[in-house]
Amino acid sequence: MCGLSSISMSAAEVARLGGREQARAEVWTGGLCHPCADAVERAGAMGPTAVERAYLSSGYARGSGGVVALRRRIEDGELTVRPWSASGASSSATPWAHMAAEVARLDEAERQRLRDPFESSVRAE
Ligand SMILES: [Zn+2]
Repeated sequence: MCGLSSISMSAAEVARLGGREQARAEVWTGGLCHPCADAVERAGAMGPTAVERAYLSSGYARGSGGVVALRRRIEDGELTVRPWSASGASSSATPWAHMAAEVARLDEAERQRLRDPFESSVRAE
């Protein structure tokens, strides 16, 4: 869901887990990294709630106002959390990288409104 492409692990850690295959099975659950797999399990099934939960609890959900503001944007329908697989973006070494541009766009739109409230109130008429 988050688009994470790989998880780095020391050779010693791989050896401790019993080799490459075992290490892979240890860090990926059905193609999901552990935080995403945990979110799916807590949500009961794969779906929008699991995706939102995984994103908001990832530590990579950033924007002006932080997680609280992102949660409000999701509730207001302003922000849609898409799983990486539905985003068309390349996988990344950073979880949820595909959401960063979307959040940056919303932040910029908000800055624009705050900078010039008169202009946006005129546009809204
Ligand atoms: Zn993930």
